[in-house]
Amino acid sequence: MIPYESLSRLNHPFEDEFRKKFDEFLEKGHYILGPELEKFEQEFAAYHHVKYCTGVSNGLDALILALKSFGLPEGSEIIVPSNTYIATILAVVACRMKPVLVEPTIRSYNIDPTKIEAAVTPLTKAILVVHLYGKVCDMDPILEIKKKHNLYLLEDCAQAHGATYKNRLAGTFGEMSAFSFYPTKNLGALGDAGAVLCNEEGYRSSLLHLRNYGSNKKYYNDVIGFNNRLDELQASLLSVKLNYLNQMNNHRNKLADLYLNGLSSRYILPLKDADHYDVYHIFNIRFPQRDRLQKYLQDKGIGTVIHYPVPPQRQKAMAGILDGQEFPIADEIHQTTLSLPCSFCHKEEEIREVIKALNEF
Ligand SMILES: *Cc1c(COP(=O)(O)O)cnc(C)c1O
Repeated sequence: MIPYESLSRLNHPFEDEFRKKFDEFLEKGHYILGPELEKFEQEFAAYHHVKYCTGVSNGLDALILALKSFGLPEGSEIIVPSNTYIATILAVVACRMKPVLVEPTIRSYNIDPTKIEAAVTPLTKAILVVHLYGKVCDMDPILEIKKKHNLYLLEDCAQAHGATYKNRLAGTFGEMSAFSFYPTKNLGALGDAGAVLCNEEGYRSSLLHLRNYGSNKKYYNDVIGFNNRLDELQASLLSVKLNYLNQMNNHRNKLADLYLNGLSSRYILPLKDADHYDVYHIFNIRFPQRDRLQKYLQDKGIGTVIHYPVPPQRQKAMAGILDGQEFPIADEIHQTTLSLPCSFCHKEEEIREVIKALNEF
C-alpha cells in the first residue's frame, strides 16, 4: 500500500522535537499571542527576507485579512486564476469584492499572463496570483501589468512555501502574500494555521488589528476585527519544521525527478525549466482516461487524488457569482489531472513502484 499522503509518517522525524516543545508549552502556560508566535513570525519573515510575518488562523483567513488590509471599496474587481483551489475565490467573495477569473496556460497550470490585460477594467484593483502545485507564476509579465495599470498584487502561496522564480522566493513579489500551514502543505502545522507576509508597516498594523478583534492593545478596539489568531502551540511546532523546509522540498524534488525521468511519454508531465525551483506540493500528470487510470492504481494499492474534481465556476456555491462563465482550459485540466504520491513521507522505492505501475498501464 502506497498512500497518497501519510501525516503520521511525514511528521514522525520531528516527534522528539515536538514533544520537547509541548513539554515547554505545558510548563509555560502561555497559549495565545506570546513568544512562540513572535519567534515563528520572525523566523518565517527572515526566511523570506521580508520585514513582517503575521501569523493567522489559516490560509483562507490569511487571504481575507490581506485583501481587507488593502482598504479597497466593496465591488472592486480582483483578478484571480480560473484554475485554483476555491479558497482563493472565497476570500474575494468574503470581502464583498468581485472575482474576475483568468484562464491558466495548459502547460504551466498557472494564470496566463497574456490573458490578464483583457480582464482589466476601471474597477480592477488587484491581481491575486496563485502559485499552484508549488510552481511560481510567470512573474515578470505579471509585474509589468501590475505596474502599467497600478494594481495591487497579492500572492496565494498556500502551495508554494520555498518555491522560487529566477531565484526569488514565492511570497516576495507582491505587497502581501498569504500562506496556509494546513497539515498537508509543504510547511504544515498539526492543525490549522496561516500567515501573511508584508514589508509595509501600514499593512502590518492592519493585519495585527484584524486578526485580534480590531485591537492591538487589549480592550481598545480601533476597527471592526475578527478572531483569526495563530496559537502558540502551532507556532512552536512550525518553528521546528521551518528548519527542515528546504530539506523537505528537496526531497519532493528528488521524487519529482524520478517521475519526470521515468514516466512514459503517454502522460503529460509538469513543466520543469531553469527559471523555476518548484516545490511540488502537488505532482500531477494529465491523461485522457484519468478515472480509469486512478481506478487501476487504486487496485494496485497506490493512492492518488484529483486536484480538483470540480472547477470553481462549476461549484454550487458560486451560483450567482460565476454562473454562465466558461473556462475551457480550467475544465480540461480538472477533467484530466491526477496527483501522484510525492510527499516528504515517501521513499524513492515507493515512487519507482508507482512509475512501474503507470508504465505498465
Ligand atoms: C490550502 C489552500 C488554501 C487555504 O488554506 P487553509 O489553511 O486550508 O484555509 C488557499 N489557497 C490554496 C491555493 C490552497 O491550496
